[in-house]
Amino acid sequence: MASQKTNVLILGCGLGGSTLAVRLAGKVRKHANIRVIEPRQNLQLPAAFQWVMMGWRKPSEVQRSLRPLVRKGIDLVNASVEKISIQKKIVKTKTGDYSYDHLIIATGAEYATSLIPGFEEYANHSYDLEHAVKFRDHVQNFKGGTLVVAISRIPFKCPPAPYEAALLLEQHLRSTGRKSTVQIFTPELQPLPAAGPVIGRQMLKLLENRGLSYKPKTVLKRIEKNRIIFDNGEAQYDLLYAVPPHVCPKPIVEAGLTDSSGWVPINPQTLTTKYENVYGLGDVTSVETAHGHVPFLPKAGVFAIRQAEVLADNLAAKIAGESQTTSWNGNGHCFLATGGEEAAFLQGSFLSNPPRLEFHTPSQKWYQDRLTFEKEVLHGKF
Ligand SMILES: Cc1cc2nc3c(=O)[nH]c(=O)nc-3n(C[C@H](O)[C@H](O)[C@H](O)COP(=O)(O)OP(=O)(O)OC[C@H]3O[C@@H](n4cnc5c(N)ncnc54)[C@H](O)[C@@H]3O)c2cc1C
Repeated sequence: MASQKTNVLILGCGLGGSTLAVRLAGKVRKHANIRVIEPRQNLQLPAAFQWVMMGWRKPSEVQRSLRPLVRKGIDLVNASVEKISIQKKIVKTKTGDYSYDHLIIATGAEYATSLIPGFEEYANHSYDLEHAVKFRDHVQNFKGGTLVVAISRIPFKCPPAPYEAALLLEQHLRSTGRKSTVQIFTPELQPLPAAGPVIGRQMLKLLENRGLSYKPKTVLKRIEKNRIIFDNGEAQYDLLYAVPPHVCPKPIVEAGLTDSSGWVPINPQTLTTKYENVYGLGDVTSVETAHGHVPFLPKAGVFAIRQAEVLADNLAAKIAGESQTTSWNGNGHCFLATGGEEAAFLQGSFLSNPPRLEFHTPSQKWYQDRLTFEKEVLHGKF
């Protein structure tokens, strides 16, 4: 073990960054300074934003303070990363500059709503807490009519999330006696494309059985009051839910960490980037898939968390002077709540060729497991 402490700097303390910081601190805090730069005071659980949108959770119930990290010996810097110099090994924020021996990029994705004219004015969504709360109020006041659910661009976080939103809203409007039709528009070729055509057809059946219409291969161009315009047609809406376009945060792009995918390419086994001692995990990264269904692994919290655990173990070993101990395998799972306290469940190996995945149709068991997942992710780590 080296006598001087190693400086580990983690950018972003969301699902991936917080998992990494806590696990690493548990292993090597005596031998490493672990610092996290994060503008938020709280860890949020985006999977539960849909619950907020439905009025089933208060905003305070889907987040928790990051302060307990300090008790674990983690230095929490409450700021935004503004600039990264890989050459000088320095990260700049408005409140100070921070040097590192190991740098981990875990800033997630940002939303670029200005890419679509009319988005900010007319679109609702549950992709951040503030919008989930606003949309909850619109849903409560909605008298019925046409609900359009539109996916604007690929990639986006959690491929099942907009389908979950459509199914939950359909069930809610029906059970509260508000006559509605639900239409889904997406640039994807099928629902959950990373899972392959068989699971896509199972999802389509689920939508069809519930009377939701599905229009694939449509690219959102513009939104106007009660009218949404695609590259190949348009639709009228009374209530609109649209997934915002996702982009990589600017300081990461400006540091030269991204490639033509627009995201940070990493080795999925080791989470390494093209720069020595610089790692990436979670939504900010791109992981190429060997199968042809989608070019890159979808963005999901389960991946960010497991990648963070693997990286924590390997970094701890490296700091202790041992060789790498473990590698990430691309396995994951996700729940898709469908209404009536039921959820579907998808799990397996997303990186194998072809992907080896199981799709379980909706049941109360998966819904209960979904609630347990929520508790574990938000309260299980620290
Ligand atoms: C509606 C919805 C439902 C979802 N449902 C599921 C689900 O059921 N299952 C699942 O696995 N995943 C789900 N996801 C996806 C999941 O939430 C993300 O994939 C996961 O949060 C990614 O983790 P991350 O650590 O990469 O990024 P994040 O959790 O987004 O964390 C990134 C952190 O970096 C910080 N940051 C950003 N910019 C900077 C900067 N410049 N400087 C410093 N810090 C910065 C942010 O403030 C944030 O705290 C869902 C997402 C949404 C929106």
